[in-house]
Amino acid sequence: MKLGRALAGISVLTVASALLLETTANAIPMSINVPIVGDSPAIRYSKLDRTECEAELTKRNVPFKSEAETRGVLAPVRLTGPIHGVTFHSPLSPEKRAVQPWDILDCRLVLALDDFSQILAKYDVVDVIHFSVYRPPILKKNVTTARQHGGGLAMDAAIFIRKDGTKLQIDKDFHGRIGAQTCGSGAAPAPSTPEATILRDIVCTAADQRLFNVVLTPDYNWAHRNHFHLEVTAGASYFLVR
Ligand SMILES: [Zn+2]
Repeated sequence: MKLGRALAGISVLTVASALLLETTANAIPMSINVPIVGDSPAIRYSKLDRTECEAELTKRNVPFKSEAETRGVLAPVRLTGPIHGVTFHSPLSPEKRAVQPWDILDCRLVLALDDFSQILAKYDVVDVIHFSVYRPPILKKNVTTARQHGGGLAMDAAIFIRKDGTKLQIDKDFHGRIGAQTCGSGAAPAPSTPEATILRDIVCTAADQRLFNVVLTPDYNWAHRNHFHLEVTAGASYFLVR
């Protein structure tokens, strides 16, 4: 997407810099490094249509409102409250969050976040600040839905705030290294601080549960040094954790 278009109207520096850093990050290599599991949540969610997905959100008591037609997004919604005690939002003011595009999510990503919030709640996380979810795409002729951020299917989660007010901040607390293994035996933050250990547990539990098809961390590249990219990929049958 064009950077000028992406940055239009954003006054929050962190959002702007995160978008700037990720402009080339959409070229994600689609290699498989986690075994495929047929009935994984992410794969199940990615196959739902709008009606099925919204019905599932309602069944789960997830607070949301449907959005009007949104370019590139199959099932656009906004969250209207916390999920399992966890609020997901951009750094914008509540008034701006209600109207700006960056807090629009595809319903199928919200199902994954509903599961994810139950992991977060175990670590007393109550707030997740993301740089953006939806970024309006330029669509090719005859294409109606987009992938990743263009489809509202990916969240760049940057800061996790706990009940006691302490923050787990990816850029300061993750302690990864580009090229290092993120999860599995032998993978560990260095140095292994309590904050880094919690962030590692959170992201690796989500990976183990196959909540997202693509999980990118600071171990992946410099563009991801300050956030987790958490993505449900429509039509995918693979998982990638880097
Ligand atoms: Zn991202």
